[in-house]
Order: sequence, then C-alpha cells, then structure tokens
Amino acid sequence: MLFERNGDFPFYRFQHLSGCPGVNHFVSSGAKNIGFSEEADADLIRQNRLSLAKAVGFEAERLVTAHQVHSARVGVVIAGDAGRGALDKESRLPDTDALVTAEAGVCLMVLSADCVPVLLYDPVGRVVAAVHAGWRGTVARIVVEAVEMMKERFGSRPEDVLAGIGPSIGKCCFEVDEEVAARFRCLFPEEDVVFAGKAPGKFQVDLWEANRKELLSVGLKPKHIEVSGMCSVCHPGHFFSYRRDGKAAGRFGAGIVLNV
Ligand SMILES: [Zn+2]
Repeated sequence: MLFERNGDFPFYRFQHLSGCPGVNHFVSSGAKNIGFSEEADADLIRQNRLSLAKAVGFEAERLVTAHQVHSARVGVVIAGDAGRGALDKESRLPDTDALVTAEAGVCLMVLSADCVPVLLYDPVGRVVAAVHAGWRGTVARIVVEAVEMMKERFGSRPEDVLAGIGPSIGKCCFEVDEEVAARFRCLFPEEDVVFAGKAPGKFQVDLWEANRKELLSVGLKPKHIEVSGMCSVCHPGHFFSYRRDGKAAGRFGAGIVLNV
C-alpha cells in the first residue's frame, strides 16, 4: 500500500486504485479513531472524520456508513442516502455489511478493527463498493454478494472490477479453534487458507486469501486484486485491532468514492 500524509490525518491507498482517475479511496491509519463505538467521544470522532475527509479529498457531509453486523447483506446506496452515518451513528444504514453505489460524490466507508475491509471499483460501469468481511462475513461470502449486486443492479462485469483487500488481522495472528477452522476448510479445501496452529486444536486462518479466492470465484481477474498484506494486530500505531486492544480499540476505515 502507499502511505500518504496530506494534512493532519495520515492514510493508505492501494497502488492500483491510485492510478485510476475516476475514483478516490483510502484506508485510514490508526493515528485517529473514526468509529462511533460505545467508548468513543462522539465530538472527537466527528472532528476526526472531518479531518480524514479533508486529507483524502471527499465530501464528509455525503459520506455513508452502515451498522455492521457481520452479515452478508449488501445495501445499494442512492443519492437520497448521502450523509447517512456520516457524522453520527443514528442515521447510518441498518444491519448492512457491504455498500454499493453508482452515485458520484458519495463516499462509502466500512469500519474495521481486525475485520477485512474490501474496496471494489468497476471503472467501465462506474460502480463502487465497500465491504466489511470479518470471519463470519468471509464464510458468508459477502464479497461475492457485493459483486453479484454490482452485476444485477448496475450491469458490472466482474472481469472489469478492481479489488483492494485491506489491512486486517493476518494469518500470523488470527488463531481459531476447530469449529471455525472446519467452516473455512469446508469452503476452501485446498489447504492454503487454514493452517495448523501453534498449539494442539488451534488453527491459523488466512482471511486475505479466503477473500481473494472468493473474488476469483465470481470472475475477477487475479491481476485486478491487490492484497495489502498488512496485519492490524502486528502494526500498532498504524491500525486499530480488537484482538490486541480489546473493547477500547478504535476503528479505522476504508472508503471509496466515484469522482464527480
Ligand atoms: Zn499479525
């Protein structure tokens, strides 16, 4: 990923999306918390989102977020949704883990503290999506659902779609028990997603590879998928991590917006 410091909120960008003139995007760093969690000071979060918008160059007032519930539900964002969940959490879209839009100027953002954020961009049909894929969302194949929605609603062709798989808990740190490992093994029997763990009965799961395989299965080209490869747990200061910091963990965000 490319690291940028523009104004007072450092952030990251995917290399391939940075070269696309039709779209703007970011993955925010752990410098500032932008999640309205129970513990967070709402005024501070608003200020932080405003400074992120300024640094990246999108309209904070038209940002859209959702109440993420580890589902496979995809929401289509229309012009009238602009600003929902931008500077408060009450107005955000309910129970949704992926956002899709063809509306220019409306930035879609998902929040994370270990879960995998995935950004999608169809430069031909001019459609974007932001996806929150934790382990449950990955097992529910939410990235596939998001691409299917881009196809159905906007006529996107998967072979045109670029994907960025963002920073999240890596296989270095994502240790699971037999029950969760079995669910992944069922979907990915090739043995390059689930690995033996450091202790008996424990396993390591590669969520990046799992999401990459899901994107390939729906027709994306390998060269169109960029994996950040940065582990949120292993990079304190760069990203927030629930596994590392517990309930007090902040949230970083990944967002994408079609240029007007
Ligand atoms: Zn790690």
